[in-house]
Amino acid sequence: MNSKSIENTPLILSKFASLTAIRDIDAYELSFLKTLTELLKVKDISIYKFNNINTPYRLVHYSTKNASIDIQVENIKLPDEIKEAHEKIQASGKIYKNKHNLIVYPIIGFKGNLGYLAINLLKGLTEIETKIISSLLNISHNYYSLLEENQKDKLTGLLNRKTFDDNISKIQDILNTEHQFIDYEGKEKRADKNINQFWLAIFDIDHFKRINDNFGHVYGDEVLLLLSQLMKKSFRANDLLFRFGGEEFISIVQVCNKETAEQVLERFRKTIESFDFPQVGQVTISSGVTQIMEKLGIASDIVGRADQALYYAKEMGRNRLYFYESLVNEGLLEGKIKEGDIELF
Ligand code: GH3
Ligand code: MG
Ligand code: MG
Repeated sequence: MNSKSIENTPLILSKFASLTAIRDIDAYELSFLKTLTELLKVKDISIYKFNNINTPYRLVHYSTKNASIDIQVENIKLPDEIKEAHEKIQASGKIYKNKHNLIVYPIIGFKGNLGYLAINLLKGLTEIETKIISSLLNISHNYYSLLEENQKDKLTGLLNRKTFDDNISKIQDILNTEHQFIDYEGKEKRADKNINQFWLAIFDIDHFKRINDNFGHVYGDEVLLLLSQLMKKSFRANDLLFRFGGEEFISIVQVCNKETAEQVLERFRKTIESFDFPQVGQVTISSGVTQIMEKLGIASDIVGRADQALYYAKEMGRNRLYFYESLVNEGLLEGKIKEGDIELF
């Protein structure tokens, strides 16, 4: 180490100390990128996240030119050099470098490769810079795993309830800002506003007490586990899936319209209905759905609407799905609420 790099050490350590104070993966990723741009001579820097079928589902891109951040979800077109880096890293396990000062590192999380860190450098890396990056990445890998585990429910691996309010606020941020995405030809395009519809569905297993009573808690837990695996298969990598309570689950899907939301959610209901759970046999779920609208602030209000539709689904005989908005439009839910009120007096 030369004296210049030793002088830099406290700066690097303090930057990293503030990084690991962040308890949220998305915020961490962004700060991680910014921190690297402050330490290295960088043109732009990106994190590509992949799901388990080799498809990118999230891109965070930070350009030092105008300090701009772009976040893309779904339908991400990989630039050719990232495709090449992906293939080479998959085959060799080594860091990828090309002659245009692009350097790509795998990001390792708890369950293996999560994606890539791609740095477009303004000039080649010095030896000390190479060491800085690899140390930061090593600490980062461990930290990533911790953060990931912290957000998940132990039994099912779905997101836990603790993370729910944070995710709702992030969705509201998306709804309240007009995002501009830059594709890799550098053209700016306005994100299609319609794709930013978020629908929240709450699922509750029908007669789950009977499953516990007839087969015991171990089989009950097995049903929860299998159901969550079917949930992961039915929804897309970017949809948010929570275990919200004991046998209550929430999914938040990002779609263009209500019809698509209904298709996706009905498909999941049918998947569960037709699955043969070992020993237990058929299990069904009831579901209530509502749209997450901008300016509707409180997460519990949104869940409350979905809950009313869920309650209606239970009343109507279970194994079905209702939209809060449709029930209100048809005057069905209001009727129920009024009846309930009258009963109170
Ligand atoms: P309904 O169709 O009205 O939803 O009937 P239900 O029997 O499912 O009723 P409810 O949703 O009120 O009951 C949920 C039951 O789930 C109560 C509880 O004993 C059980 N349960 C909650 N969490 C767990 C868990 O982690 N494991 C197991 N095995 N059972 C759980
Ligand atoms: Mg319940
Ligand atoms: Mg239930």
